[in-house]
Amino acid sequence: MEIGFIGLGKMGFPMARRLIEAKHQLTVFDTRKEVVDQLVALGAQAASSPKDVADRCETVLASLPSLQASLDVATGGAAGVIEGKRVRRFVDLSTVGSQMATRIHGLLAAKNIVQIDSPVSGGVGGAEKGTLAVMASGPRADYEAVKPALDVIGKVFFIGEKPGSAQTMKLANNFLSATAMVATSEAVVMGVKAGLDPAVMIDVINAGSGLNTASRDKFPRSVLPRSFDFGFATGLMVKDVRLALAEMKSLGLSMEVAEAVGRLWEVIIRDEGPESDFTAAIKPIEKAAGVVVGGAKGDHAAK
Ligand code: NAD
Repeated sequence: MEIGFIGLGKMGFPMARRLIEAKHQLTVFDTRKEVVDQLVALGAQAASSPKDVADRCETVLASLPSLQASLDVATGGAAGVIEGKRVRRFVDLSTVGSQMATRIHGLLAAKNIVQIDSPVSGGVGGAEKGTLAVMASGPRADYEAVKPALDVIGKVFFIGEKPGSAQTMKLANNFLSATAMVATSEAVVMGVKAGLDPAVMIDVINAGSGLNTASRDKFPRSVLPRSFDFGFATGLMVKDVRLALAEMKSLGLSMEVAEAVGRLWEVIIRDEGPESDFTAAIKPIEKAAGVVVGGAKGDHAAK
């Protein structure tokens, strides 16, 4: 397929590279020229704007860091995808929440461009290996048309035809991921305060019923070695937690765990900054407890 790809960051770059390796013809754009150059070296064509991408390709994928970036790229004036001559489908791989997805859907629909909402989960490692969970919503026929491309980046789930429904799915998932990160941090900090070895704790949790993605992946790889380099920014995690809370509120729900988790992530972004890796979430919890969690990687460390 001829595919446009906009936003070549931590997630977008490896996804675009996999599409090139799978013999799709890619036309790429990012505001950072160096990442465009790297993909051109791998066989992509460079475009000069989102509109330029959409002038050349029927299907345009995007992986962007903020709601505003998705809105601007899709519909932002003369240089947006919306003005493209060939584009028929805009596939947004970013996490933007169902309200923004629905807004973009409406603006594009007025120009006969179909939006497929397609947020992903599974981190940079999943993007590199093509093992992401890909959650798609939109008209079924258009979903079928883009599925061969989505199959290259991960396991694809059709969530429904209602605009934004894949975003709701993604926010449910990321609320759990955000909760696992801070809940595991609190559990391990409690143990360390009482004199337990954190590496042993993680091994026990991973062999027991406390197992979760933070204990399985994030602690062995990025927290216990104190590298804090898992590849997902605190700013993006907080964006998703805020979106999940907004989603609950818009549904008339008030949820206790989500609100406590949301308050804690606001402390984390204030203390560690939006550019920090989200595994640094443990630092304010350590500080409040007066301990530092460190040590060997434990038996379950990613090899
Ligand atoms: P990132 O910040 O690493 O990458 C974003 C890219 O978009 C950058 O290359 C940036 O230069 C580019 N960009 C920004 N504004 C642009 C514009 N107006 N036009 C063109 N390019 C523009 O972010 P990321 O970690 O790759 O995340 C992208 C999306 O995927 C986010 O919605 C995030 O929530 C979601 N996500 C990330 C992860 C992860 O582990 N990093 C996992 C799942 C989902």
